[in-house]
Amino acid sequence: MAEYDCDLFVIGAGSGGVRAARLAAMTGARVLVAEEYRVGGTCVIRGCVPKKLMVYASAFKRDFEIAKGFGWTKCETAFDWRAFLVAKDAEIARLSGIYTANLNNAGADILYGTACFVDPHTLEVTGEGKPRRYTAEKVLIAAGDRPSLPDLPGIEHVITSEEAFHLPELPKRMVIVGGGYIAVEFACIFHGMGVDVTLVYRGPNILRGFDEDVRAHLADELRLRGVKIQLACVHERIEKRADGVLVSHLTEGLKLESEIVMFATGREPHVKTLGLEKAGVKLNDKGAIAVDEYSRTSVPHIWAVGDITDRMPLTPVAIREAQAFAETEFYSKPMKFDHADVPTAVFSQPPVGVVGLTEGEARHVHREVDIYLTRFRPMRTGFVGGDERMLMKLVVARATNKIVGCHIVGADAPEMIQMAAIAVKASLTKTQWDETCALHPTAAEELVTMHEKYVPQELAAAE
Ligand code: FAD
Repeated sequence: MAEYDCDLFVIGAGSGGVRAARLAAMTGARVLVAEEYRVGGTCVIRGCVPKKLMVYASAFKRDFEIAKGFGWTKCETAFDWRAFLVAKDAEIARLSGIYTANLNNAGADILYGTACFVDPHTLEVTGEGKPRRYTAEKVLIAAGDRPSLPDLPGIEHVITSEEAFHLPELPKRMVIVGGGYIAVEFACIFHGMGVDVTLVYRGPNILRGFDEDVRAHLADELRLRGVKIQLACVHERIEKRADGVLVSHLTEGLKLESEIVMFATGREPHVKTLGLEKAGVKLNDKGAIAVDEYSRTSVPHIWAVGDITDRMPLTPVAIREAQAFAETEFYSKPMKFDHADVPTAVFSQPPVGVVGLTEGEARHVHREVDIYLTRFRPMRTGFVGGDERMLMKLVVARATNKIVGCHIVGADAPEMIQMAAIAVKASLTKTQWDETCALHPTAAEELVTMHEKYVPQELAAAE
């Protein structure tokens, strides 16, 4: 039998890589983890965590306004971006340190540098000093994804989410391009921090793939709060004027001036530097690493998890895929991760939480569905005369009475949807939801008190 330098070589110390490496090392396996940037990966260093801290920071603006309506006076406020950056970076460094310590404590060794296949069982790591080669019995690729930019004149002037976490100062005006969750979240973040934000998206509405009622409701709420949304147009070029101002030239002759243009139009699996062809690892038609339900690639001793497989690019999904891999290969407990009914959130302001099918998907899968929908003014903002409304929507398969989709837009939607996901995953019926007693006074109680089926106004008028 061949002698290898390690039992498992993990490429990438992000959400998926760290989980798999720790679990494998805890069995006594010899584990090496290569990381080319910082331990923690996208989630900790330039994704979920710093983003959520920015969401918290930016949300205070509205909170201070609301506070006045509740009797608070002398609410003079100013936001110090640089002070926030210092605190945010300290927290990210702390978390990255915890991830590093966890790997070390489990017995895994970290190699700082970029790993690349030399042959199916050999990897070369290039970092500081001379490149070093390691042989591995098994390899797990957990190298994540990266922002991708379109090819258009002036694209060198734009930033992506990676740079948005480190702006030297806040601009006066910002154009954010894209309609996905990252674009929408950053539009709300910078708007909350006092920047004049215009969101530009080529489609008919933001958040493609989400339920139509959610998309329409959120777009209305963003406009109400002052985020400008320019739909159905694309950038033709970006011009940098002598005074430093960027001019976005859009279709239909539209022009927007701003100090910063941020593109959040897509991300691509980070496969380029891996030398996959030397290992024989195949990609799928989306350019991601092709895997089976056990995350095994086209090469039997090589697996891939997380964003690089482009199945469902979310941190908890990468972690669960990695866990299933480790349980299968190092604990002799074959395990697959079930990608159905994974709850997701958009940390916009107001936020969105969804689990299960959209109404459109449910009609396609189940044919006959019943919809329960409510829009209402939440107590907290209604009290101060705010026009904000919450949306809650349940999608029920008529034949089984099971709740197959739950969609919420409004304060605390992500927190609520985590709990609702338990019920949807457990295939509870609408009757069982309704048997659950309300908790008063909350917004969430509306979820268990929607008794009337919803008929859209246009359908009601036609009947
Ligand atoms: P990553 O965490 O990206 O880790 C990959 C690691 O591999 C990186 O550290 C990278 O440096 C390293 N690497 C790459 N190539 C090599 C190489 N050749 N050699 C050595 N190291 C290498 N998900 C959520 O669930 N909730 C959210 O709110 C959320 N917000 C997000 C916000 C933003 C702005 C972004 C960009 C992403 C967000 N995500 C969110 C997605 C989430 O961050 C990813 O799904 C998750 O990090 C994927 O984990 P991973 O292990 O696949 O890859």
